[in-house]
Amino acid sequence: MINNFAYLKAGSISEAVKALSKEGTRLHAGGTDLLGCLRDEIFQADTVVSIRGLKRLKGITAGSGGSLTIGALTSIADIASDATVAKKYPVLAQAAAAVGSPQIREQGTLGGNLCQKPRCWYYRKDILCRKKGGDTCYAMSGENQYHAIFGGGPCFFVHPSDTAVALTALGAELTIAGSSGNKTVKIGDFFVSPGKMVEKENILLSNEIVTAISLPIVSETTRSSYRKVRARGAWDFALVSVATVLEFDNDTVRDARIVLGGVAGHPWRVEAAEKKLQGQKLDEGKANEAAEAAVEGAVPLRDNRYKLDIVKGALKESLLALA
Ligand SMILES: Cc1cc2nc3c(=O)[nH]c(=O)nc-3n(C[C@H](O)[C@H](O)[C@H](O)COP(=O)(O)OP(=O)(O)OC[C@H]3O[C@@H](n4cnc5c(N)ncnc54)[C@H](O)[C@@H]3O)c2cc1C
Repeated sequence: MINNFAYLKAGSISEAVKALSKEGTRLHAGGTDLLGCLRDEIFQADTVVSIRGLKRLKGITAGSGGSLTIGALTSIADIASDATVAKKYPVLAQAAAAVGSPQIREQGTLGGNLCQKPRCWYYRKDILCRKKGGDTCYAMSGENQYHAIFGGGPCFFVHPSDTAVALTALGAELTIAGSSGNKTVKIGDFFVSPGKMVEKENILLSNEIVTAISLPIVSETTRSSYRKVRARGAWDFALVSVATVLEFDNDTVRDARIVLGGVAGHPWRVEAAEKKLQGQKLDEGKANEAAEAAVEGAVPLRDNRYKLDIVKGALKESLLALA
């Protein structure tokens, strides 16, 4: 049941930041995750402050030299259908198109997609698990087929966002507004592992707001893709996803960034796999080597060993398709 709360429509970012500085206040963008969290009593709110009316946080704008900035309130559907994103950053367009259902993509925003709460079924139920301040992660010895194979402990949830995986592979930067003004943070420094902060998934303070996401300039020889594997064809979160960004020099890979989703508490970059490709001609042998390297260090739980094969298969398929 959702508790009664006050609802404030912010007229500016600074008004929203000020409202969020009061304990018990939560930020509302599209509401597709926030309202579920309130309903399921994952947390409660005395006040909900909506930034939905802040038009300057919506839209996709080209920067100098070919970079792109996406306002945090831009809908996931708009990102999925944007011609420039599709041409220059296919990995992001494909990740956005793979989110949920058409309704979720219309209503959900990019900022909300990055800041949504995990879907671990113990966390989402009325159970005082480790992530909610208890002392046990029930997934460790319970039903853990959808949980982490990398970086787990003390809690084994996986980060649910598709766009976060693509944006990490692109090396995006986030602009964050707070009580001392704006700051810019690399996306790799934004998400945190449960080992560092078990109750949070990112570095945001409770009165900070992601206002924009900036994509770096990519060369004409960069190719990218997002491959998502889910349990069913209709809307579903990733069992495993792979975001691959390769910069080519003729048929040689000059640079590679490979990030996995559905396998860890944050987008999981696999540098060992990237190194197998850098400076190499991409063929089946190299794709196999990278796929094997991508699962190095994985520590599967009782019921999720199958994710290792999906990582390897999805990465190999992605690499060969890009070659
Ligand atoms: C049925 C269903 C299926 C889904 N399937 C997928 C899927 O396949 N892949 C996937 O990636 N996601 C999936 N999602 C999640 C969905 O994409 C997110 O709920 C949505 O993107 C959140 O955006 P929103 O604008 O609605 O955020 P809200 O619900 O408004 O906010 C979500 C959280 O982020 C915080 N927040 C929102 N905006 C900001 C901001 N700008 N700065 C700081 N904090 C912010 C809020 O306070 C809240 O805690 C699914 C959700 C549902 C309900």
